[in-house]
Amino acid sequence: MTSKIKLADGGGGEATARLIREVFWSRFTDPELRKGNDAAVLEWSSGKTALTTDAFVVTPWKFPGGDIGRLAVSGTVNDLTMSGAEPKFLTAAFIIEEGFETDSLKEIVQSMAETAVEAGVAIVAGDTKVVNRGAVDRIFITTTGIGLVEGEYYPGGEKARPGDQVIITGTVGDHGAAILLARGELGISAELESDVAPLNRMLLPLIRHFKAGVRAMRDPTRGGLAVTLNEIAGQSKVSIILNEAQIPVLPEVRGISALLGLDPLYLANEGKAIIIAAPEIAADLVGQLKRTPLGAKAALIGEVSAENPGLVMLRNQNGGGRVLPMGSGELLPRIC
Ligand code: MG
Repeated sequence: MTSKIKLADGGGGEATARLIREVFWSRFTDPELRKGNDAAVLEWSSGKTALTTDAFVVTPWKFPGGDIGRLAVSGTVNDLTMSGAEPKFLTAAFIIEEGFETDSLKEIVQSMAETAVEAGVAIVAGDTKVVNRGAVDRIFITTTGIGLVEGEYYPGGEKARPGDQVIITGTVGDHGAAILLARGELGISAELESDVAPLNRMLLPLIRHFKAGVRAMRDPTRGGLAVTLNEIAGQSKVSIILNEAQIPVLPEVRGISALLGLDPLYLANEGKAIIIAAPEIAADLVGQLKRTPLGAKAALIGEVSAENPGLVMLRNQNGGGRVLPMGSGELLPRIC
């Protein structure tokens, strides 16, 4: 019989101690974590600290290209990266439904450990709660991360200026479309993987190199490219004009979107970044991205304008255009 997580596993007694040893400490190997103290005590250098937190509730927990564990590490690593911070330490809190398979939990923890190594970040503290059947759907994970900003400059959504160029590091909508497919409710099958990946090793060298030329970076997760650009347009009080023909979209994502009446520009990404770059460095930055494995399909997709502040416009090949609104949100729940 396959082993299942029991309420007692989260009760704080001997069963919890065993679960922590056998599932977590065998995969999360940071010495500070394994001391088992109430808080990890960390070496820190002086400078600016970035801090972020995110809860992950994706369903199904495992999907082509990744799982909730890879997502929970990548999502927090990427949010630190977008602020120009080198991710250093993560914490992870698990809320598990009674009856969840122990082997599935081990697989998720292993995936988190591997993604943390890939990103060069240490998981230094954690918490586990087990709740009654129905109190949570299978497993939810919250990760918090801290990172270090080297030097004085860091990019921000409020720093876009008219004339700046808009760059995307690859195809849009892959994660959202892959999750919809993985739910198996569509009656269609296609070869499509989530793009979930930590982006710090690709992006932080660009900030070090181009410095203030990198005005803003943001990962277009929930709400996709369109909503994320609306946020930047609002923060910087500028408009953003996109050229539809230049936005990379996989044919599979286009197909699924057309079937469901969805717009790939609003689908979630978990391994992509929008970069707002000064005009004089934009082409060079795209060239450097294209030489990295995760940035091979990077493209210049638009520009920042002073007119109609707050608006995002999509220009088509015939010279026409339409506004890409903020949207109502929550069209696709539990995508991340
Ligand atoms: Mg983000």
